[in-house]
Amino acid sequence: MLDMNYQAILDHIYTDIQPQIGVGKVASYIPELAKVSPAHFGMAIVDLHGNVYAVGDANTVFSIQSISKLFALTLAFHLQGDAIWLRVGREPSGNPFNSLVQLEREAGKPRNPFINAGALVVTDMLCTRFTHAENALLQFIRKISHNPDIGFDEAVAKSERNTSDRNSAMAHFMKSFGNLHNPVEAVLDAYCKHCAITMTATDLARAVTFLANGGALPWNGDAVLDKSSAKRLSALMLTCGTYDAAGDFAFRVGLPAKSGVGGGIVAVMPGECGICVWSPALEETGNSHAGSLALEMLTNLTGRSIF
Ligand code: GLU
Repeated sequence: MLDMNYQAILDHIYTDIQPQIGVGKVASYIPELAKVSPAHFGMAIVDLHGNVYAVGDANTVFSIQSISKLFALTLAFHLQGDAIWLRVGREPSGNPFNSLVQLEREAGKPRNPFINAGALVVTDMLCTRFTHAENALLQFIRKISHNPDIGFDEAVAKSERNTSDRNSAMAHFMKSFGNLHNPVEAVLDAYCKHCAITMTATDLARAVTFLANGGALPWNGDAVLDKSSAKRLSALMLTCGTYDAAGDFAFRVGLPAKSGVGGGIVAVMPGECGICVWSPALEETGNSHAGSLALEMLTNLTGRSIF
């Protein structure tokens, strides 16, 4: 691949994106998240040689929220391989991320690991494997982002836990079908802590470089996943990673990605780099408005996507 001047491209995006920053709404259904200013924008690219390119608030920590679903899935997939697909599917849901409607028809097996029901099942797998699933995931994230200082935002975790009636309903429902093995309260505790992990855009861009590198950490070659599993995970990101807008996102951006209601989006350019953009004001779909546009600009300006 020809070398790209990623810093110049990010600078260009940062200038052009300014009028879009703050357009949309900051998530407020978790009260603590509503306190975040919509005026933030940060974007980072980490290439496979470890070079970091960044603009704006790329080094400000934010709540990773549903991006944690990608890391929880990676860890469960690493530990259990294809057995996980007996309990969670691999199809887009065509429904909101916290919807309950499909679960009854589909006997408590969530459509995919990136909707809340699917992530609760994945968290349940981690709860079976570890005494403290939240700490196990945190350690794993610290390792793949090469940053031992990553931690939880306890206020966000508490705020989400206090307002988790819907996730609780989902978890109980799946338990009634036998698809949750641990106590609902324990799974919810771990899940809310996972969502409340805070990272910077730079941390997150680095944390997905293994996916751009065939499953191996670029700095030491350690395999997080084998090549085929990394490909499959990236495929799931493309089809299910950006809420019920994944089709439109693939059309506009053309990269595997995972978003969260904290306003972060991670994306992977295979063979090249990990990317993360953060801007808290969201579109109706739950994806960051300025973040989605910035990623669209990136693939337009570089001419690179997976297509
Ligand atoms: N913690 C959030 C919830 O379960 C995650 C939402 C998200 O980022 O999609 O509602």
